Amino acid sequence: MTQQAHEIHLIRRPDGMPKPEDFAVVPVDVAEPGEGEIELQTLLLSVDPYMRPRLDRDQPLDAAMLGGGIARVVRSRHPEFAEGALVRHMSGMRDRFVSDGRGVAALVVDPDLPLSVYMHALGGTGLTAYGGLLEVGALKDGEQVFVSTAAGAVGSVAAQIAKLKGCYVIGSTGSAEKAAWLRDVAGLDAVIDYRAEPLAPALRAAAPNGIDVYFENVGGAHLDAALPLMNVRGRIPVCGMISTYNGDREGVRNLSVMIYSRLRMEGFVASDFGALRERFAADMTGWLKDGKVRYQETVLDGFDQAPAALIGLFEGRNAGKMLVRMAQ
Ligand code: NAP
Repeated sequence: MTQQAHEIHLIRRPDGMPKPEDFAVVPVDVAEPGEGEIELQTLLLSVDPYMRPRLDRDQPLDAAMLGGGIARVVRSRHPEFAEGALVRHMSGMRDRFVSDGRGVAALVVDPDLPLSVYMHALGGTGLTAYGGLLEVGALKDGEQVFVSTAAGAVGSVAAQIAKLKGCYVIGSTGSAEKAAWLRDVAGLDAVIDYRAEPLAPALRAAAPNGIDVYFENVGGAHLDAALPLMNVRGRIPVCGMISTYNGDREGVRNLSVMIYSRLRMEGFVASDFGALRERFAADMTGWLKDGKVRYQETVLDGFDQAPAALIGLFEGRNAGKMLVRMAQ
């Protein structure tokens, strides 16, 4: 017996900022799972900035948008997946589908933590912050740290890990509410609302002892403002450059300071940190339970909200992780 399900498709390539009309919710049939297959119902969908550059080339038109989430196994004819089990998947923006198990991993959750944290602080964005700051950024206790998009999914974790390491932490964000959360809840030492005040002088004033580690999430004007303030042998772990993803290529003029300041700038992706997973999961579970790492989530209800969620990332509509919820 076939059932109705849905996929989010890209139906035309965006020009700059994506528009709702670039996407469509497409009904599809889901067949019975065959031998060695499972049927999955997605509960939470992760919506992430990396998706935007893919819309220009890698994402095929008229096919399920790339992406992943947490799902429940509703029917199983696969020896490794029991019915009712929770899994993570990278099978695209699909609310219900049949899989042979590739790209699907069992998810064991701590009963004292909400499921959604496995999509951020205890998921890919948390691991990215952890590995990017501690391994690539080679953070030392007590250093001077600047984190951009500090109220976002990655940034909020990176900023709070730096606080846990006894660092002086500056964060930038794009609204008064997010700035207040960073100051009052996450406990940052200095916060800049870059939409309310000119970034470069505000950062200079907030960093009287310079910057040892700039955790780069934005690029463009943020990178240009941070470069002249970097201390000798400073590190810039490059996690992302969201200000460039819609095609803006604001020039960076201060790169030459890298020479005499002996700076190191290094990009990375979350999958580089597989060897850290166990230590990360143990540390982060403890920090979340002890309230040492706090988080925010912006949850849009309904599968058809996925395009709005993606667009919202580039309008700063999310505080913390942007998620789409389909079912409990
Ligand atoms: P996020 O920070 O939770 O959400 C995106 C935020 O970016 C928005 O809320 C907005 O916050 C800010 N933003 C959007 N457009 C901007 C612009 N033009 N200039 C400055 N800020 C802008 O998203 P996330 O998932 O945590 O990702 C943060 C960064 O990490 C992104 O660059 C992403 O590509 C990168 N990332 C990299 C990896 C990796 O493996 N390397 C993995 C995950 C994420 P404000 O309101 O504060 O401006």
